[in-house]
Amino acid sequence: MPAKAKYRGRFAPSPTGPLHFGSLVAAVGSYLDARAHGGEWLLRMEDVDTPRNVPGAAAGILATLEAYGFEWDGPVLWQSRRFEAYAAALERLIAAGLAYGCTCSRKEIADSGSHPAIDGGLAYPGTCRDGLPAGRTARAWRLRVNDEPLAFVDRLQGRVLQHLESDVGDFVLRRADGLFAYQLAVAVDDEFQAISDVVRGADLLASTPRQIWLQRCLGYATPRYAHLPVASNAAGEKLSKQTLAPALDVGQAGPTLVCALNFLGQGVPAELAAAPPAEVWAWGLAHWAFSAIPRRPSIPLAILRYAPAFPRRPASASGRS
Ligand code: GLU
Ligand code: ZN
Repeated sequence: MPAKAKYRGRFAPSPTGPLHFGSLVAAVGSYLDARAHGGEWLLRMEDVDTPRNVPGAAAGILATLEAYGFEWDGPVLWQSRRFEAYAAALERLIAAGLAYGCTCSRKEIADSGSHPAIDGGLAYPGTCRDGLPAGRTARAWRLRVNDEPLAFVDRLQGRVLQHLESDVGDFVLRRADGLFAYQLAVAVDDEFQAISDVVRGADLLASTPRQIWLQRCLGYATPRYAHLPVASNAAGEKLSKQTLAPALDVGQAGPTLVCALNFLGQGVPAELAAAPPAEVWAWGLAHWAFSAIPRRPSIPLAILRYAPAFPRRPASASGRS
Protein backbone atom coordinates (compact mmCIF):
# COMPACT_ATOMS: atom_id res chain seq x y z
CA MET A 1 0.00 0.00 0.00
CA PRO A 2 1.31 3.48 -0.63
CA ALA A 3 2.67 5.13 2.49
CA LYS A 4 1.33 8.57 3.23
CA ALA A 5 3.87 11.17 2.24
CA LYS A 6 4.45 12.52 5.71
CA TYR A 7 5.39 10.31 8.63
CA ARG A 8 2.93 10.79 11.47
CA GLY A 9 3.26 8.56 14.48
CA ARG A 10 1.35 8.51 17.73
CA PHE A 11 1.30 7.34 21.30
CA ALA A 12 -2.10 6.41 22.66
CA PRO A 13 -2.12 5.58 26.37
CA SER A 14 -5.27 4.60 28.22
CA PRO A 15 -5.63 6.51 31.51
CA THR A 16 -6.42 3.40 33.50
CA GLY A 17 -3.39 3.98 35.73
CA PRO A 18 0.06 5.55 35.68
CA LEU A 19 2.58 4.87 32.93
CA HIS A 20 4.87 1.93 33.66
CA PHE A 21 7.97 0.57 31.96
CA GLY A 22 5.91 -1.27 29.32
CA SER A 23 4.13 1.94 28.31
CA LEU A 24 7.46 3.76 28.23
CA VAL A 25 8.86 1.27 25.72
CA ALA A 26 5.92 1.97 23.37
CA ALA A 27 6.31 5.71 23.87
CA VAL A 28 10.06 5.66 23.21
CA GLY A 29 9.78 3.37 20.18
CA SER A 30 7.02 5.37 18.53
CA TYR A 31 8.68 8.68 19.35
CA LEU A 32 12.15 7.87 18.03
CA ASP A 33 10.83 6.13 14.93
CA ALA A 34 8.80 9.25 14.14
CA ARG A 35 11.68 11.65 14.78
CA ALA A 36 14.16 9.47 12.86
CA HIS A 37 11.83 9.81 9.85
CA GLY A 38 11.59 13.59 10.33
CA GLY A 39 7.99 12.96 11.26
CA GLU A 40 5.46 14.17 13.74
CA TRP A 41 4.45 12.43 16.95
CA LEU A 42 0.93 12.89 18.22
CA LEU A 43 -0.58 12.11 21.56
CA ARG A 44 -4.02 10.60 22.00
CA MET A 45 -5.61 9.92 25.35
CA GLU A 46 -7.61 6.72 24.91
CA ASP A 47 -10.19 7.44 27.55
CA VAL A 48 -13.12 6.10 25.51
CA ASP A 49 -13.83 3.34 28.04
CA THR A 50 -14.89 5.83 30.68
CA PRO A 51 -15.70 3.35 33.49
CA ARG A 52 -12.08 2.16 33.37
CA ASN A 53 -10.56 5.63 33.57
CA VAL A 54 -8.85 6.33 36.87
CA PRO A 55 -9.29 9.88 38.18
CA GLY A 56 -6.05 11.83 37.82
CA ALA A 57 -4.39 9.19 35.62
CA ALA A 58 -4.53 11.24 32.39
CA ALA A 59 -2.96 14.29 34.07
CA GLY A 60 -0.35 12.02 35.63
CA ILE A 61 0.50 10.49 32.24
CA LEU A 62 0.95 13.91 30.64
CA ALA A 63 3.13 15.11 33.54
CA THR A 64 5.25 11.95 33.37
CA LEU A 65 5.75 12.26 29.60
CA GLU A 66 6.86 15.85 30.12
CA ALA A 67 9.23 14.92 32.93
CA TYR A 68 10.72 12.26 30.64
CA GLY A 69 11.33 14.90 27.97
CA PHE A 70 8.83 13.82 25.31
CA GLU A 71 7.65 16.59 22.98
CA TRP A 72 4.43 15.96 21.13
CA ASP A 73 3.04 17.82 18.15
CA GLY A 74 -0.26 19.62 18.41
CA PRO A 75 -2.93 19.28 21.06
CA VAL A 76 -3.73 16.00 22.80
CA LEU A 77 -6.71 14.21 21.23
CA TRP A 78 -9.15 13.02 23.90
CA GLN A 79 -11.32 10.09 22.87
CA SER A 80 -13.92 11.04 25.48
CA ARG A 81 -14.65 14.12 23.34
CA ARG A 82 -15.02 12.21 20.07
CA PHE A 83 -18.45 10.66 20.58
CA GLU A 84 -19.92 12.35 17.47
CA ALA A 85 -17.11 11.14 15.24
CA TYR A 86 -17.53 7.54 16.38
CA ALA A 87 -21.31 7.78 16.07
CA ALA A 88 -20.99 9.11 12.51
CA ALA A 89 -18.67 6.24 11.55
CA LEU A 90 -21.07 3.70 13.00
CA GLU A 91 -23.99 5.32 11.16
CA ARG A 92 -22.09 5.00 7.90
CA LEU A 93 -21.41 1.32 8.52
CA ILE A 94 -25.05 0.66 9.40
CA ALA A 95 -26.25 2.54 6.31
CA ALA A 96 -23.89 0.45 4.16
CA GLY A 97 -25.28 -2.76 5.65
CA LEU A 98 -21.90 -3.55 7.19
CA ALA A 99 -22.90 -3.14 10.83
CA TYR A 100 -25.94 -4.56 12.53
CA GLY A 101 -27.66 -4.57 15.89
CA CYS A 102 -27.13 -7.53 18.19
CA THR A 103 -29.35 -8.54 21.05
CA CYS A 104 -27.29 -11.42 22.43
CA SER A 105 -26.24 -11.51 26.04
CA ARG A 106 -22.91 -12.98 27.04
CA LYS A 107 -24.70 -16.11 28.17
CA GLU A 108 -26.57 -16.49 24.90
CA ILE A 109 -23.30 -16.26 23.00
CA ALA A 110 -21.72 -18.85 25.30
CA ASP A 111 -24.72 -21.14 24.81
CA SER A 112 -24.78 -20.80 21.03
CA GLY A 113 -21.95 -23.09 20.08
CA SER A 114 -19.32 -20.36 19.91
CA HIS A 115 -15.62 -21.17 20.10
CA PRO A 116 -12.75 -19.22 21.71
CA ALA A 117 -11.61 -16.08 19.88
CA ILE A 118 -7.97 -15.47 19.03
CA ASP A 119 -7.36 -13.08 21.92
CA GLY A 120 -9.70 -14.19 24.62
CA GLY A 121 -13.45 -14.26 24.88
CA LEU A 122 -15.65 -16.08 22.41
CA ALA A 123 -15.87 -15.72 18.65
CA TYR A 124 -19.34 -14.33 17.93
CA PRO A 125 -21.25 -16.93 15.89
CA GLY A 126 -23.28 -14.41 13.89
CA THR A 127 -26.62 -15.07 15.56
CA CYS A 128 -28.14 -11.62 14.82
CA ARG A 129 -26.64 -11.17 11.34
CA ASP A 130 -29.89 -11.57 9.51
CA GLY A 131 -32.02 -9.52 11.83
CA LEU A 132 -33.25 -9.59 15.40
CA PRO A 133 -35.92 -11.95 16.62
CA ALA A 134 -39.31 -10.23 16.86
CA GLY A 135 -39.80 -8.22 20.02
CA ARG A 136 -36.10 -7.85 20.84
CA THR A 137 -34.07 -4.67 20.54
CA ALA A 138 -30.39 -4.18 19.77
CA ARG A 139 -28.10 -3.99 22.78
CA ALA A 140 -24.83 -3.68 20.86
CA TRP A 141 -23.70 -3.02 17.32
CA ARG A 142 -21.38 -5.35 15.47
CA LEU A 143 -19.34 -5.22 12.29
CA ARG A 144 -19.84 -7.95 9.72
CA VAL A 145 -16.61 -9.79 8.83
CA ASN A 146 -15.85 -12.61 6.43
CA ASP A 147 -13.50 -15.53 6.42
CA GLU A 148 -11.19 -14.44 3.62
CA PRO A 149 -7.57 -14.42 4.75
CA LEU A 150 -6.64 -10.96 6.04
CA ALA A 151 -2.88 -10.50 6.11
CA PHE A 152 -0.48 -7.66 6.67
CA VAL A 153 3.28 -7.44 7.05
CA ASP A 154 4.38 -5.96 10.33
CA ARG A 155 7.71 -4.13 10.19
CA LEU A 156 8.95 -6.15 13.17
CA GLN A 157 6.80 -9.23 13.63
CA GLY A 158 6.56 -10.16 9.95
CA ARG A 159 3.47 -11.51 8.24
CA VAL A 160 0.31 -11.72 10.32
CA LEU A 161 -2.67 -13.63 8.99
CA GLN A 162 -6.16 -13.93 10.39
CA HIS A 163 -9.50 -15.22 9.22
CA LEU A 164 -11.70 -12.75 11.01
CA GLU A 165 -14.86 -14.80 10.93
CA SER A 166 -13.33 -17.82 12.62
CA ASP A 167 -10.69 -15.99 14.65
CA VAL A 168 -12.89 -13.21 16.05
CA GLY A 169 -16.39 -13.21 14.57
CA ASP A 170 -18.46 -10.10 13.86
CA PHE A 171 -17.03 -7.77 16.49
CA VAL A 172 -18.54 -5.09 18.67
CA LEU A 173 -18.38 -1.46 17.57
CA ARG A 174 -20.75 -0.08 20.16
CA ARG A 175 -21.24 -1.91 23.40
CA ALA A 176 -24.45 -2.69 25.24
CA ASP A 177 -23.58 0.07 27.74
CA GLY A 178 -23.57 2.60 24.89
CA LEU A 179 -19.81 3.11 24.82
CA PHE A 180 -17.90 2.83 21.58
CA ALA A 181 -15.42 0.00 21.38
CA TYR A 182 -11.67 0.57 21.28
CA GLN A 183 -11.45 -1.02 17.80
CA LEU A 184 -13.78 1.55 16.27
CA ALA A 185 -12.30 4.50 18.17
CA VAL A 186 -8.73 3.64 17.20
CA ALA A 187 -9.58 3.21 13.50
CA VAL A 188 -11.50 6.49 13.38
CA ASP A 189 -8.79 8.37 15.27
CA ASP A 190 -5.81 6.98 13.35
CA GLU A 191 -7.54 8.25 10.20
CA PHE A 192 -8.55 11.57 11.79
CA GLN A 193 -4.99 12.20 12.93
CA ALA A 194 -3.65 11.03 9.52
CA ILE A 195 -1.36 8.51 11.19
CA SER A 196 1.04 6.96 8.68
CA ASP A 197 2.81 4.67 11.13
CA VAL A 198 1.53 2.85 14.17
CA VAL A 199 4.30 1.75 16.51
CA ARG A 200 2.93 0.07 19.64
CA GLY A 201 3.23 -3.03 21.80
CA ALA A 202 2.86 -6.51 20.34
CA ASP A 203 0.02 -7.14 22.79
CA LEU A 204 -2.10 -5.35 20.16
CA LEU A 205 -0.92 -7.44 17.22
CA ALA A 206 -4.06 -9.60 17.25
CA SER A 207 -6.27 -6.48 17.12
CA THR A 208 -4.64 -5.12 13.99
CA PRO A 209 -6.55 -7.23 11.43
CA ARG A 210 -9.82 -5.94 12.95
CA GLN A 211 -8.57 -2.40 12.61
CA ILE A 212 -7.49 -2.97 9.01
CA TRP A 213 -10.91 -4.45 8.24
CA LEU A 214 -12.58 -1.40 9.74
CA GLN A 215 -10.32 0.89 7.70
CA ARG A 216 -11.39 -0.92 4.54
CA CYS A 217 -15.07 -0.76 5.45
CA LEU A 218 -14.79 2.98 6.12
CA GLY A 219 -12.64 3.75 3.08
CA TYR A 220 -9.62 4.76 5.15
CA ALA A 221 -5.95 4.25 4.30
CA THR A 222 -4.09 1.57 6.23
CA PRO A 223 -1.01 2.80 8.10
CA ARG A 224 2.19 0.82 8.37
CA TYR A 225 2.49 -1.15 11.58
CA ALA A 226 5.42 -2.03 13.83
CA HIS A 227 4.59 -4.02 16.94
CA LEU A 228 7.33 -3.71 19.53
CA PRO A 229 8.25 -6.52 21.89
CA VAL A 230 6.43 -6.08 25.18
CA ALA A 231 8.15 -6.33 28.51
CA SER A 232 7.16 -9.36 30.51
CA ASN A 233 8.04 -10.46 34.01
CA ALA A 234 9.91 -13.64 34.86
CA ALA A 235 6.64 -15.57 34.64
CA GLY A 236 6.14 -14.39 31.05
CA GLU A 237 3.24 -12.09 31.93
CA LYS A 238 3.05 -8.69 30.23
CA LEU A 239 3.91 -5.81 32.54
CA SER A 240 0.67 -4.18 33.55
CA LYS A 241 -1.17 -2.98 36.56
CA GLN A 242 -2.41 -6.54 37.09
CA THR A 243 1.15 -7.87 37.22
CA LEU A 244 2.15 -5.10 39.63
CA ALA A 245 4.26 -3.06 37.22
CA PRO A 246 5.36 -0.03 39.21
CA ALA A 247 4.60 3.50 38.02
CA LEU A 248 7.46 5.26 36.25
CA ASP A 249 9.58 7.27 38.65
CA VAL A 250 9.84 10.87 37.44
CA GLY A 251 13.05 11.24 39.45
CA GLN A 252 14.69 8.43 37.46
CA ALA A 253 13.84 9.60 33.94
CA GLY A 254 17.37 9.36 32.50
CA PRO A 255 18.22 5.84 33.71
CA THR A 256 14.75 4.53 32.91
CA LEU A 257 14.97 5.91 29.36
CA VAL A 258 18.33 4.18 28.99
CA CYS A 259 16.68 1.00 30.14
CA ALA A 260 13.83 1.39 27.60
CA LEU A 261 16.32 2.04 24.80
CA ASN A 262 18.31 -1.03 25.73
CA PHE A 263 15.11 -3.05 25.88
CA LEU A 264 14.65 -1.98 22.25
CA GLY A 265 18.13 -3.28 21.40
CA GLN A 266 19.75 0.13 21.13
CA GLY A 267 22.94 -0.57 23.11
CA VAL A 268 23.22 2.72 24.97
CA PRO A 269 26.83 3.42 26.06
CA ALA A 270 27.41 2.65 29.73
CA GLU A 271 28.52 6.26 30.37
CA LEU A 272 24.91 7.36 29.86
CA ALA A 273 23.54 5.06 32.55
CA ALA A 274 23.12 7.96 34.98
CA ALA A 275 22.77 10.83 32.47
CA PRO A 276 19.89 13.31 32.54
CA PRO A 277 17.03 12.74 30.05
CA ALA A 278 18.20 15.44 27.61
CA GLU A 279 21.52 13.64 27.12
CA VAL A 280 19.84 10.29 26.67
CA TRP A 281 17.48 11.78 24.09
CA ALA A 282 20.36 13.40 22.24
CA TRP A 283 22.04 10.02 21.98
CA GLY A 284 18.78 8.24 21.08
CA LEU A 285 17.88 10.71 18.34
CA ALA A 286 21.35 10.43 16.82
CA HIS A 287 21.65 6.64 17.04
CA TRP A 288 18.14 5.23 16.68
CA ALA A 289 18.45 1.90 14.86
CA PHE A 290 15.08 0.39 14.04
CA SER A 291 16.83 -2.70 12.68
CA ALA A 292 18.29 -3.41 16.14
CA ILE A 293 14.86 -3.86 17.75
CA PRO A 294 14.38 -7.52 18.69
CA ARG A 295 11.81 -9.11 16.39
CA ARG A 296 10.03 -10.88 19.20
CA PRO A 297 6.59 -10.41 20.70
CA SER A 298 7.87 -10.25 24.27
CA ILE A 299 11.07 -10.08 26.28
CA PRO A 300 11.45 -10.86 29.97
CA LEU A 301 12.87 -7.89 31.83
CA ALA A 302 15.39 -10.06 33.65
CA ILE A 303 17.68 -10.14 30.59
CA LEU A 304 18.10 -6.36 30.54
CA ARG A 305 21.56 -4.96 31.01
CA TYR A 306 20.78 -1.76 32.90
CA ALA A 307 17.53 -2.80 34.45
CA PRO A 308 16.35 -0.42 37.11
CA ALA A 309 15.35 -2.14 40.29
CA PHE A 310 11.80 -3.30 39.67
CA PRO A 311 10.04 -4.25 42.84
CA ARG A 312 9.55 -7.99 43.01
CA ARG A 313 6.19 -9.59 43.47
CA PRO A 314 5.24 -9.82 47.13
CA ALA A 315 7.12 -12.61 48.89
CA SER A 316 3.92 -14.60 49.24
CA ALA A 317 3.62 -14.87 45.46
CA SER A 318 7.27 -15.45 44.60
CA GLY A 319 7.52 -19.12 45.49
CA ARG A 320 5.67 -20.20 42.36
CA SER A 321 8.46 -20.45 39.83
N1 GLU B 1 -4.72 2.57 24.39
C1 GLU B 1 -4.05 1.34 24.07
C2 GLU B 1 -3.22 0.88 25.25
O1 GLU B 1 -2.88 1.69 26.09
C3 GLU B 1 -3.10 1.49 22.91
C4 GLU B 1 -3.82 1.49 21.65
C5 GLU B 1 -2.94 1.65 20.42
O2 GLU B 1 -1.77 2.02 20.51
O3 GLU B 1 -3.50 1.42 19.36
O4 GLU B 1 -2.93 -0.29 25.34
ZN1 ZN C 1 -26.50 -11.25 18.59
